[in-house]
Amino acid sequence: MITTRSGIDGKICFQCRRWKRLEEFSPDRTQPESQGKRHGRCKECHAENARRAYAWTKLVMARLRGMGLEADGSYSISSPTRRGTAEEATTTETRQGHE
Ligand SMILES: [Zn+2]
Repeated sequence: MITTRSGIDGKICFQCRRWKRLEEFSPDRTQPESQGKRHGRCKECHAENARRAYAWTKLVMARLRGMGLEADGSYSISSPTRRGTAEEATTTETRQGHE
């Protein structure tokens, strides 16, 4: 729902809950006029989500590799130790636990 503040049209982002100018929301033709035909999330939150998705993908890929799985789903049976020692795996696991 669009609200006007100080003569400026804007709305509240449903993710960060902050009021922002309409320009801060990406246009979206599927959105109704009541939403200013724009996304419910501001551009900042969209960028934030993209960053998180990327970090998540990286984490998953790192785990797959740690299990000897390739990113494409194939399994590496040639040499499990080639990818690092058990000590390295433990270090990786500890670091991930803090994220
Ligand atoms: Zn936002």
